[in-house]
Amino acid sequence: MKGTQIAIDGPAGAGKSTIAKLIAKNLNYIYIDTGAMYRAITLKALNLGIDMHDERLFEFMKKTTFAFVNGKLFMDDIDVSHEIRETKVSNNVSLVSSYFTVRKELVAKQQEMARNHDVVMDGRDIGYKVLPDADFKFFLTASIKKRAERRHLDNLERGIESDIFVIEIEIERRDYLDTTRIHSPLKAAADAVMVDTSDLNIEQVVELITQRVREEDKHGF
Ligand code: C5P
Repeated sequence: MKGTQIAIDGPAGAGKSTIAKLIAKNLNYIYIDTGAMYRAITLKALNLGIDMHDERLFEFMKKTTFAFVNGKLFMDDIDVSHEIRETKVSNNVSLVSSYFTVRKELVAKQQEMARNHDVVMDGRDIGYKVLPDADFKFFLTASIKKRAERRHLDNLERGIESDIFVIEIEIERRDYLDTTRIHSPLKAAADAVMVDTSDLNIEQVVELITQRVREEDKHGF
């Protein structure tokens, strides 16, 4: 039986993953962080020392396995949750995620993970590509300043070295690359609910989305 699917898309630093994680916890759904998967493939390519500009070398990902366990991402059975947040990964992930070879494999894996489960999935192309039939679709936005500030605090909390000005530039660059790429650019599904989170805190956004899902469920959805 098909589970309930919640798709959350938006640019870097809009709070998607924190929010999606809490919604999944509230509703007892599985949370799938697709950005973490693109980051993990980027990390693997960097560790392999391959030419990052040669898409053909990314065939290795067909043999790569992923599993989310207790909020951690395991790639090839190794916990990579921490390493994938490092700057070297952030600086290369938009290039890697622009490759068709990479997207094709990861989208198939994400669809498989969502099959027959109640899921909250966040990313850039979830509402219109990965889960086009999702029951709920949200697109989160926020001003660039707010997003940089949040990423900065997030990094500090995770014990990662961080400079807010560098982050702002990095986010702007990533936004540009993610929205202008040919394959599955960052964009809202036509039927997504737009939520500007600039002046809302995490709890308010979580509440807004959770309420909406519960309301619909109550009405026999
Ligand atoms: O969500 P996060 O910022 O960790 O994502 C890292 C990068 O992965 C994004 O900047 C984007 O290039 C890529 N990505 C993507 N499609 C997704 C999720 C993330 O292209 N569904």
